[in-house]
Amino acid sequence: MKIVRKKINVQGIVQGVGFRPFIYNLALSIKITGFVANTSEGVIIEAEGTIKQIDNFIKNIKLNAPPLSLITDISSSEINTKHSREFIIKKSQSNKSVATLISPDIAVCQDCLNELFDPNDRRYHYPFINCTNCGPRYTIIDNIPYDRPYTSMKDFKMCPDCQKEYDDPSNRRFHAQPNACPKCGPQVQLFDSNHNLQDVEDPIVATRKKLRDGKIVAIKGLGGYHLAVDATNNEMVQKLRKLKGRDEKPFALMVRDLKIAHQYCLISNEEEQFLQSPRTPIILLKKLSNCRIAESVAPGNDYLGIMLPYTPLHHVLFEDLDTPLIMTSANYSEEPICIENDEAFKRLENIADYFLIHNRDIYLRSDDSVGIFLHNKFRYIRRSRGIVPQPVFVKSTGPAVLAVGGELKNAICLLNEGKAFISQHIGDLENIEAYNFFKMTIEHLQRIFDVKSELIVHDLHPQYFSTQWAKEQPNIQTIAVQHHHAHLTACMAENQLTEPVIGIIMDGTGYGTDGTIWGGEILIGGYSNFDRFAHFEQLPLPGGDAAIKSPWRTAISYLYKTFDSSIPNLPFIDNLDIDPIIEMIDKNINSPLTSSCGRLFDAVAAMSGGRQTIRYEAQAAIELMQSFESIDVRPFSFEIEYKMEKRVILIQPIIRSLVRSIQNNESFSKISSRFHKTLVQIFLEIANEARNETGINQIVLSGGVFQNMVLFEHTILTLEKANFRVYTHSQVPTNDGGISLGQAMIGRTLTSS
Ligand code: ZN
Ligand code: ZN
Ligand code: FE
Repeated sequence: MKIVRKKINVQGIVQGVGFRPFIYNLALSIKITGFVANTSEGVIIEAEGTIKQIDNFIKNIKLNAPPLSLITDISSSEINTKHSREFIIKKSQSNKSVATLISPDIAVCQDCLNELFDPNDRRYHYPFINCTNCGPRYTIIDNIPYDRPYTSMKDFKMCPDCQKEYDDPSNRRFHAQPNACPKCGPQVQLFDSNHNLQDVEDPIVATRKKLRDGKIVAIKGLGGYHLAVDATNNEMVQKLRKLKGRDEKPFALMVRDLKIAHQYCLISNEEEQFLQSPRTPIILLKKLSNCRIAESVAPGNDYLGIMLPYTPLHHVLFEDLDTPLIMTSANYSEEPICIENDEAFKRLENIADYFLIHNRDIYLRSDDSVGIFLHNKFRYIRRSRGIVPQPVFVKSTGPAVLAVGGELKNAICLLNEGKAFISQHIGDLENIEAYNFFKMTIEHLQRIFDVKSELIVHDLHPQYFSTQWAKEQPNIQTIAVQHHHAHLTACMAENQLTEPVIGIIMDGTGYGTDGTIWGGEILIGGYSNFDRFAHFEQLPLPGGDAAIKSPWRTAISYLYKTFDSSIPNLPFIDNLDIDPIIEMIDKNINSPLTSSCGRLFDAVAAMSGGRQTIRYEAQAAIELMQSFESIDVRPFSFEIEYKMEKRVILIQPIIRSLVRSIQNNESFSKISSRFHKTLVQIFLEIANEARNETGINQIVLSGGVFQNMVLFEHTILTLEKANFRVYTHSQVPTNDGGISLGQAMIGRTLTSS
């Protein structure tokens, strides 16, 4: 029988996911010889055997790859035989060009859980148990290839027992880089807020007791510290809000298991699957009306953000705990999540009563990911732990590009060949700590993927910190991209679209090409250019950012622009001093013009009995949405005016119609229903005109306003009924957390052409 030798290159997420042991065991079972090696070019295998054996081998690599791996490419070529006698795993070698992917941090697997709760196992209750199929990855990697000396496990020398597992190709922990046990691995300790070590037998059991007693405990996790407190204890939840500087923005919860989750929320089968998946994101779930959760966890909100335990430490903590815990990123207000122990003590000393810390360093912070199951798909609202740094695969080739995102909810994107690596959630860059994290993430991502960008893309807004950073970089070309154009192309990119589309981009704010604030845009275009086909009429925003926090200001502005000085006497105006606002508009003092759809939501909510001032982003709009009842209502009147080759959606007719309905004492729910219906009708009408004019039938939906589930679903249903092909976000957020992907694609297209 003829013997051949083939060199096989496997690309994708193939490091740190048990790939080499899998290959080794497969080679043994098929009885071929050769070797497997981790290189920075991916996994390289040389396999020697009969043609039939080698074919069988390659077929099985694809068929039975380990659960956490993701093969993107597998190529093979015949080479000279070497008459090797056995199959071995070669030591890692560093190499220049890098194409490997790094696995995200993954929830503890069932095999490890079984050991964790087996009193006879040597890792019984050991909070850092892991194997090649689970555990920390991205957050502990400092460099590639993924080997222990390049991770934060480098400080821990394995004991003989662990080393034996690590060296044994048949073991589940063969080459599991974070492998550890109570004898040789990281340890937990409990401190009080004065930095006094607590003399307790088991720090986790002691922590559980503190939580039961209503204490706030800072707990070091996978991607950073959490602040934990009993979520049924209203008094303590309110105290945490006060200490943390967080007014009413909902807190996320962690509960022991699905059974407990069902006591608080309505959960579908799909949602159950996502809750339990190795990614374990926070999922927004409909709150049960009679559940025992403290009202202050998510005031006035119909949804609760829930996740299940994902580290062994969480599992041990919850072993004997039915109570749901708030598990919120440990920070003050919008600062980045704490990761270092000294930093945590300093930054959280006035918030936490106790600190459950450990000595495995976190190299790169990563908040919990957040998403929602909507219209048949899981949609990321915040893309972080559990998914980052898995790339979004795009249909594009060209130079490597760094895109630095926007200002709020910043995430950056490194586009290398057909892979867009979007960073974890970085935060709001106006915060200095977030800005430092932004710079560090850029450096870290370029290092671990060994990518040197040839171009930096930034937002058109000259004042964004990300823009300023980009412009400060020496010896590299930079390109500015309009905010909503980036939204449009982000949605195109993740759906692998290449031809121009109609983009319905409904957003808060973004800098327009005319220097005004855009945000309610229907654009037509692709990666190389766009046309502003239609937009909401631009009205003044008295006070700028102050109006965003006080929707009543926007309401007054829109009423004034509609009725001039004879503003109708609506109930919400009763206790307001509106003259200064009108003066601001008249004299054009700090009253930028905006076409924002988010601001229109604010104005409608404030006028019709909703929130006058907000305590977290979009609160007024969210509450308006929650009052929606049915789409089978009459829309408000609207008019689309054709002005200088652009369609302008006039605000006055909508406001007039709305005011009539308020004066007729229509309920808040009815008004909400009619307003949503109005928007959907407007989108349909303009989309039809765009299709008639251009022949384009593909529509993308993007922008922060599409986090509104009602608007999102009814827009899709209505457009699909009119035979449009509608594309939406699922891999990257529809909010500004997704725009760096669009920026990168535009930048590459403009430089390649
Ligand atoms: Zn495991
Ligand atoms: Zn050990
Ligand atoms: Fe935006």
